[in-house]
Amino acid sequence: MICIYCLSQKTRVLNSRAHRKNPLVWRRRTCTSCGKIFTSYERPSCDDLLIENSHGESNRFNIGTLTISIYLASQHNKKQALYDSFYIAQTVELEVIKISANRLPNDHINTYDLVKITYSILRRFDEAIAMQYAIQQGYISSIKRQRGRPSIQKNDNY
Ligand SMILES: [Zn+2]
Repeated sequence: MICIYCLSQKTRVLNSRAHRKNPLVWRRRTCTSCGKIFTSYERPSCDDLLIENSHGESNRFNIGTLTISIYLASQHNKKQALYDSFYIAQTVELEVIKISANRLPNDHINTYDLVKITYSILRRFDEAIAMQYAIQQGYISSIKRQRGRPSIQKNDNY
């Protein structure tokens, strides 16, 4: 870990704590060169996680793609979307890791699962963004208000 104050590569861990619900580790570190103290977070990356599309093809999870699709759904507040999109995408990534870990080895997360996970996280954050995302992803093809349940279809983008 590189010191954020002097860029020295030698730091010492003072304290370390695992997150109760998420695969995250918080660490308090001290730099052995300048003596300053800073915090680091260790988290697994989804970069190696394969996402299967409806044609059965697998592609690596791409947090950039996900961040952009969340940003594009957040256009009613573009400035706020710049700050929030990546943070939300990281929340989705952690949820994907948890869900994936609870599945059987050959039961891969597919693009439909990913859209569904993203939609449910966006709903907790902002209903309007969630709805916009669902429409853009084809997750909700038509909103049928008289029954109160939207119809759902498969889509390969997330
Ligand atoms: Zn330092």
